[in-house]
Amino acid sequence: MFYDVHSHIDLVEEENVSKIINEAKEKNVGEIISCSTSFISNKKNLLLSKKYEEIKPALGLYPLDLVELNEEELNKAFNYFEENKKNIFAIGEVGLDYKYCKTTAEQEKQTNYFKKFIELSNSIKKPLIIHSRYAQSQVLKILEKKDASKVLLHSFVDSKKLMKQAIDHNYYISVGLSAINFKEVRENLVNFPIEKLLFETDSPIRFNGEKSHPSKIIDIAKKVSEIKNINIIDIEKQQEKNYDLLFH
Ligand SMILES: [Zn+2]
Repeated sequence: MFYDVHSHIDLVEEENVSKIINEAKEKNVGEIISCSTSFISNKKNLLLSKKYEEIKPALGLYPLDLVELNEEELNKAFNYFEENKKNIFAIGEVGLDYKYCKTTAEQEKQTNYFKKFIELSNSIKKPLIIHSRYAQSQVLKILEKKDASKVLLHSFVDSKKLMKQAIDHNYYISVGLSAINFKEVRENLVNFPIEKLLFETDSPIRFNGEKSHPSKIIDIAKKVSEIKNINIIDIEKQQEKNYDLLFH
């Protein structure tokens, strides 16, 4: 079986959710992790996971949403995560975004709460699903300093050097449609161990203008099979192993 380890099913129109799940299952994509960004999306993803067993909820606050919240709201959010720790699959999408948050105050706020998310992950033993736009080396430094143990770095495929650092720490990375669309990403994957690789679509967010959905995981898997010259059956077996090791 294959898995989509990073999507946002809460953004899909309600009436299309079961169709999307069925299309994914037809392509052997049996579980879909839906990442949260805000209060509303946390609630929505929990509800979706109760309704559809294929949807696994990750709760968290997107770094760009987080900077808009005050301390009281942030405390409320963390209480909500604690209360729901038994119902969640992972913590995400959390991390740093320095592309759109350029002031020191905003970056400090993101950093402080990212550290709190790492503490939460360590205490409830759920993996972190991490966003790290324009802040990849900063994210790695904080993860190391805070002793994070279960880590999935979302779309962490731009730098061979940082990808190597990630696996040295035993972290996983996920690759999406960029493996199909960008030559540089394919080159970075050539020597990357499949034991540390997972697949994601970030759907329904468009990629390069192209509409994305979880069934596309199979196209990513085929591309990786081709890049690395590994039989698709073996890619699938390794996905099952990686998913199990990180999330169970
Ligand atoms: Zn995302």
